[in-house]
Amino acid sequence: MITRHRAMLGAVLLLLAAACGQQDPPGSGKGFTLRYEEPAAADRDHHRFLKDRAPAEAVLADLNGHLALPRGVEVVARSCDGGGTGYDPEEHRIELCYDDLAEERDLIGRSGSAHPDEDLSHIVRETLYHEAGHALLDALHRTLDDRAEEDAADRFAQVMLLRAGDPEGEQTLLAAARSYDAEAAADPAPDPADEHAPPATRAASHRCAVYGAGPARHPELAGPARADCSAVWTRTRDSWTRDLAPLLRH
Ligand SMILES: [Zn+2]
Repeated sequence: MITRHRAMLGAVLLLLAAACGQQDPPGSGKGFTLRYEEPAAADRDHHRFLKDRAPAEAVLADLNGHLALPRGVEVVARSCDGGGTGYDPEEHRIELCYDDLAEERDLIGRSGSAHPDEDLSHIVRETLYHEAGHALLDALHRTLDDRAEEDAADRFAQVMLLRAGDPEGEQTLLAAARSYDAEAAADPAPDPADEHAPPATRAASHRCAVYGAGPARHPELAGPARADCSAVWTRTRDSWTRDLAPLLRH
């Protein structure tokens, strides 16, 4: 009887799963999922920081609420031993490195931040949106040269963080811009082999997007160099919105 009950329960669960499946948008896959690996001893504080403040959970909830991916993308928080946070197109996986947080914390210290923990949370958020941009370009089969892809990933982060006129999104991009400033000041001659734009350029792009998306909210960012930022923001938003159309939930 136990076996028979289990079989019946199994059939009911299968029916429920089928019914639930029909309500999912086509091709929703598993979306972005998050897994924490145990940290190396040196990374324990930053593993704890991520678990306690949960910036990655917030980013993934936003991405999964907004986008239906054709396949799962796993975000793995782990000790990378200097390997560097990034998206792996072979595995459809984003590695978020605990050890990168130590480097970011150092840059935040150099920038003289009064709120280093908040800034670090912001930078993790901006980083994950950037890496999600790579994953989405891959899912959309968009092939760009290295620099163009990095720039597009930065613009994806801008669109996700600014699309709702949310002050926290603006603060996230401005905190990331301060970190890029500190990186530029620490190393005025960036590696020419780096596929990313130089840190000073990335900082300028984020500030231009924040100003362009809401000039009235950021008079402190106004200036002749930002005269075109509203037009740049409109192009950025419209271009990514068009590219994402097949994946948008609403
Ligand atoms: Zn990148």
